[in-house]
Order: sequence, then structure tokens, then C-alpha cells
Amino acid sequence: MGIVHVVGAGLAGLSAAVALAETGTRVVLHEAAKQAGGRCRSYYDPALGLTLDNGNHLLLSGNADALGFLKTIGAPADALTGPDEAAFDFADLASGERWCLRPNAGRLPWWVMSPSRRVPGTRARDYLAPLGILRAASGKPEGAGGTIGAHMDCDGDLYRRLWHPVLLAALNTEPRDSDVGLAARILRETLGAGGKACRPLVAVEGLSYAFVDPALRHLAARGCEVRFGRRLRGLDLAEGRVGQLLFSDGAETLGPDDGIVLALPPWVAREVLPGLLAPVEFRSIVNAHFALAPKPGSPLVLGVVNALTEWLFAYPDRYSVTISGADRLLDVPREDLARRIWSEIAQLCNLAPELPSWQIVKEKRATFAATPAEAARRPAAGTAYDNLVLAGDWTATGLPSTIEGAIRSGMTAARALRAGSVARSGTRARGAA
Ligand SMILES: Cc1cc2nc3c(=O)[nH]c(=O)nc-3n(C[C@H](O)[C@H](O)[C@H](O)COP(=O)(O)OP(=O)(O)OC[C@H]3O[C@@H](n4cnc5c(N)ncnc54)[C@H](O)[C@@H]3O)c2cc1C
Repeated sequence: MGIVHVVGAGLAGLSAAVALAETGTRVVLHEAAKQAGGRCRSYYDPALGLTLDNGNHLLLSGNADALGFLKTIGAPADALTGPDEAAFDFADLASGERWCLRPNAGRLPWWVMSPSRRVPGTRARDYLAPLGILRAASGKPEGAGGTIGAHMDCDGDLYRRLWHPVLLAALNTEPRDSDVGLAARILRETLGAGGKACRPLVAVEGLSYAFVDPALRHLAARGCEVRFGRRLRGLDLAEGRVGQLLFSDGAETLGPDDGIVLALPPWVAREVLPGLLAPVEFRSIVNAHFALAPKPGSPLVLGVVNALTEWLFAYPDRYSVTISGADRLLDVPREDLARRIWSEIAQLCNLAPELPSWQIVKEKRATFAATPAEAARRPAAGTAYDNLVLAGDWTATGLPSTIEGAIRSGMTAARALRAGSVARSGTRARGAA
């Protein structure tokens, strides 16, 4: 294999670059922005005087490819922090109730039989509701199984207090309208795999500290060149392959053995690759940050129901809130949001009502909409062009738009490119014989 040009240095591009570099391939990584990480990165916010993440990200210990990636790139031991056992603290803002959901470590879910481990006021048999999702998704291609609403009862206490918040966080789309296949994959790889796969993990020191900086160091040590400020504008496509990459600052001509991984957001990929079938609908996420050090003993992550706040993160230097599927909030003035969210935090944590310094971050196209229609639009890594493969959380990974999906897509793209290259060199060798 010649040089591989990876375009887009989000987690999918970084993962593809790392996987290729591990096989000794020469990699050049091109990124339009001045920094890597895309939708998963840290930055300094002068208004708060703090380094923030573009969005609070929650991982689970069952995210095997994300954890494998951290190991490969030599991420620091404190890259991700979380409890030793699966435990999710919840609060109901309306009733004041608190509980801690504690799935047991093994696959056999005996924890649902124990009232102290489950959601108050629920019965063991209520926990069987997601079986409908698993049955409907079984053996079906992405997007073909229908919506969660068609296969699971989206009502009742357990739905409101567990399944709705968990599925909304994973899918970033109203669960009843979301694709059963995406939900089934999440359930199988995390909750269905037992508590050992559900420990919550947070990049307390920041997403760049955990994922991006070590990946860049790892790539630099393997001779990978990273070129920032390089925006791809188009591709020169001829005779079943890409001949040139057309960047804002000039063209890159490809040699016969060179390859490309396009790890761009879907709307950019559709511009440079006309006719590409890819998701076209997206959902937003709103994050609120408050510059106040949390009280000692605050849960790292608190699920909140009956509130605007959905997940409250206690970072060492700030409280941060995540609200998923937040398109309804895009036009709400930022100060109104800050005030409403802070009043909820003050009530939950017994804090003074005065608003600390705050920041509201609205990520409009945070994820693709996890509906059956959008799931059916996700392309495989391979394309009609010999030397071009796709990566990104929106490609057909089977997972929703997540760190795990992005990293997995990069690994799949690297494998597909290498497999194509081996097949091509075999064909050339047979032709020459
Ligand atoms: C606010 C928020 C909260 C989230 N929370 C979670 C969570 O809790 N858990 C979880 O697992 N996931 C979460 N996610 C999803 C996760 O961040 C994404 O799935 C993942 O980061 C996507 O990576 P990617 O590489 O596929 O795409 P991107 O990160 O979008 O990477 C694409 C890269 O391409 C670059 N680029 C764009 N155009 C060009 C061009 N023309 N030329 C060259 N480069 C270009 C971009 O600058 C970017 O670096 C969240 C996302 C957001 C936004």
C-alpha cells in the first residue's frame, strides 16, 4: 500500500489513521480546522476561564473499541474516570426522590429482583419491556425493524424514569421515533452484557486529554504527518478511482497504490461525493456549564427526570448539564436557559440561587437523527471507487452516533482499504503473470 490520505481528524479519522499506522502504512491526516477532535474535543473558554469540552460525553465500560483505542494510543491512566461498579444515581426533580440503579456484574440480570437495586415503584417484570426491541431488530438490516414506539410500551413509571432517559441519551432522538436496530445494538453491547459493561466513564480531565492529544502523539511517533487548516473542496473522480484530492490550498495527486479515508461529517461527504446516500436529518444537544466547584461527594453523573436538566456532571471545577434531542431549545435565549437550568441544579444540590458564571453551548448537528429512515441511509465503508473508503459515526456501524461508533468506523475503513489494496495488487500480479 502507498500513502493513505485520511481526511477529517475527528475520532473516526484518528481511529483510521491509528489503525493504518499500526500496520506500518504511511499516513497523512488532513483537517480543515486548526485542531483535531471534531465533535469530541476540548477548548479554552475565556468567559469562564476554564477548559471545557464541546459537549459532556458519557462512555460505558462495554465500549470495547473506544477502550481499545485508548490502550493503543497510550492514553493516560486517568483518561476516563468512573465508579468501580455499574451505578447510576438518579433524582426526580418533581417528587424529590433519589435512587441508585445498580445492575449486577454478570449477564444474568438478577438485580431486577432486588428492590434496592432498581427504580422505586417498579416491578421486576417491567424490566422485560425492551425484549420487544431485541425481537423486532433481530436479523433485520439497519432501519428495517421499525420504531421503538411500535415495539415497546413507551409509557409508565419505568419508561419515564429509566428507558426514556437512557435511550434518549444513547440515540439523541425521541426514543419512540427511534430505530429499534440502533437501540438493540446498544442494549446488547451494554445493559444486556451485564453490569461489567455498564460502568459509566467520563473524561474528567477533558476529551482532548483523553482521546485527541495522545492519538496525535502516537501518530507523530509513527511518522504520520498532520496538516491542519486543509479543507477538502472536491475529488477528481475518473475511471473508478480518485485521481486527486482538491483542497482549498491546492491539489494532492494520488499515486497508483495510494488510498483515501474520507472521515468527514455526512453533509460534507455528500458535497464532495455526489450521489452518496447518507443521513440528512440531525438532532442537537445543548450543554450548560457553570463555573462553581461541586460539593465534595457529588455524584460524577446524575440522571434527572421531570426536569429540563437530563444529566448533571460534577467536574472538579464546574457543574455541567447535558440536554439531548434539544432542537426545541435552539431558539430559546441562552440566558433564559442558563437561569432555568441553574435553578434546577440549585434545587437538586441545595445551592444558592445566584447564577454563577455560565456558558451555554448549542451543537445544532450533534448527531444524525436515529430514526429508521436515517438508519437506512447509512453507507458501508467501501465505495464505488477503488481507492476510497468512508468513515464517520454516520456510516453503517450498527451503532448510533457515538464515540464507540466513530472509532469502530475508522477501524472498519482501515480494514476495507487494506483488503481492497491486497485484492488489487493480487489482480495486478495475476495480470502480469
Ligand atoms: C454535544 C455532543 C455530545 C455528545 N455526547 C456523546 C456522548 O455522551 N457519548 C458518545 O459516545 N458520543 C457523544 N457524542 C457523539 C460523538 O462526539 C461523535 O459521535 C463523534 O465525535 C463523531 O466523530 P466523527 O469523527 O465521526 O465526526 P466529527 O467529529 O464530526 O469529525 C469530522 C472531522 O472532519 C473535519 N472536516 C469537516 N469538513 C472538512 C473538510 N471539508 N476538509 C477537511 N476536514 C473537514 C471536521 O473539522 C472534523 O474534525 C456527542 C456529540 C456532541 C456534539
